[in-house]
Amino acid sequence: MINDLNLYLDACSTAPPLDLISNEVSRINDSLWGNPSSLHKYGLRASEIIERSRNEIANRYRIAPDQIIFTSGATESNYLSFKNGLEDCKPGRLVISSVEHPSVIYAAKSLEKKGWKIVLWPVDKYGIVKLEYIDELLSPPTKFVSLIWGQSEIGSIQPIDLISKECVKRKILFHTDATQVASQGLLPLDKFNFDFLSLSAHKFQGPIGIGMLIVGNRIFDMLSKKQKLDAQESSIRPGTQPASLISALSLAILNIKHKVIIDNKNTIFDNNPVSKITTEFRESLLRLEGISLIGHPTKRLPHHISILVANNRNNPIPSRVLVRLLSEKGIYVSSGTACSSSNLSDSPILEAIGIDKSFRQSVLRLSLGPWINFNELNLVPNILSDVIESVSKEMY
Ligand code: PMP
Repeated sequence: MINDLNLYLDACSTAPPLDLISNEVSRINDSLWGNPSSLHKYGLRASEIIERSRNEIANRYRIAPDQIIFTSGATESNYLSFKNGLEDCKPGRLVISSVEHPSVIYAAKSLEKKGWKIVLWPVDKYGIVKLEYIDELLSPPTKFVSLIWGQSEIGSIQPIDLISKECVKRKILFHTDATQVASQGLLPLDKFNFDFLSLSAHKFQGPIGIGMLIVGNRIFDMLSKKQKLDAQESSIRPGTQPASLISALSLAILNIKHKVIIDNKNTIFDNNPVSKITTEFRESLLRLEGISLIGHPTKRLPHHISILVANNRNNPIPSRVLVRLLSEKGIYVSSGTACSSSNLSDSPILEAIGIDKSFRQSVLRLSLGPWINFNELNLVPNILSDVIESVSKEMY
């Protein structure tokens, strides 16, 4: 029965927490709620949980425990990368791609008033940075580059390995926002030249409100020399750490089963089971008249579908209306990025990839996860087609 549908297709906004995650948060909050900086029994127990979790995460990613800074999520990690990477530098040029998450744009803009010049790296029609700009943009006075690994609105994957190696070679600091990629497999952090990397637990079925900033070796050496290590998280993120969320984050990472492999321009999602289902589902949506894919057809997040929606006479259909009507039918999708759902202005990402203005409010994002029921998923194309038709009749 259609009325009974409960199909959550918005993994890129947040993913439903696993039962073991919710249980872990409650277990620790109930009995091990001490302030980890306290010197008595309650504090020591909370601090033990945090250090055990840090070690587990470090082992899993094959990095040093000290490289892990717990934060409240990727927004904060992004901000802290810019702050810690650039605070003591003489201002120069700062390069970010033209398809960054708003939190990276805000972080970069906050440095403009300190004299930093921000340059946007142009992208092709798929939202992938144009490699012909490497020499021009990765030369002096560029001191810092930030490049989103997997784009949340359009799904495209950047040639992260290639760009990060170029940055290291040219002694430029490199940050990547790995928030969306981190949910699709265990990141190869031991094989990757980054200075700062941001991720967030709630995208991989961990709790909301906890994330990590991973610092590369050369940054860690630089920061530990200059900073007094007398506040929490190596003074990079001072403040009381939430032991329950950190322990649940560690469990969520232990639960990631597949691997992400990087190879120069490519990111490979090894044996990712959601990938095949997403591709088949995408093909069934693209068979509907008026629907077209945005973002790269193959170099994309394996759980991500982003489509432009028009009627059969190619008139754009507003995605906010579609999201509401689909929600009434038990199908939960997103219009572009949830981070800006209250914002009615056009997405700069869609502008950067050359989507016509008349279509910029007509993008739907459907993102999948292992909780999906396939019988329900098969119903979506017909339901979407009916919804488009009814909206179209009212509008045109
Ligand atoms: N970066 C990207 C690419 C994202 O998709 C998101 C979440 N939508 C964020 C950063 C912000 O993450 P958080 O909610 O953990 O602050």
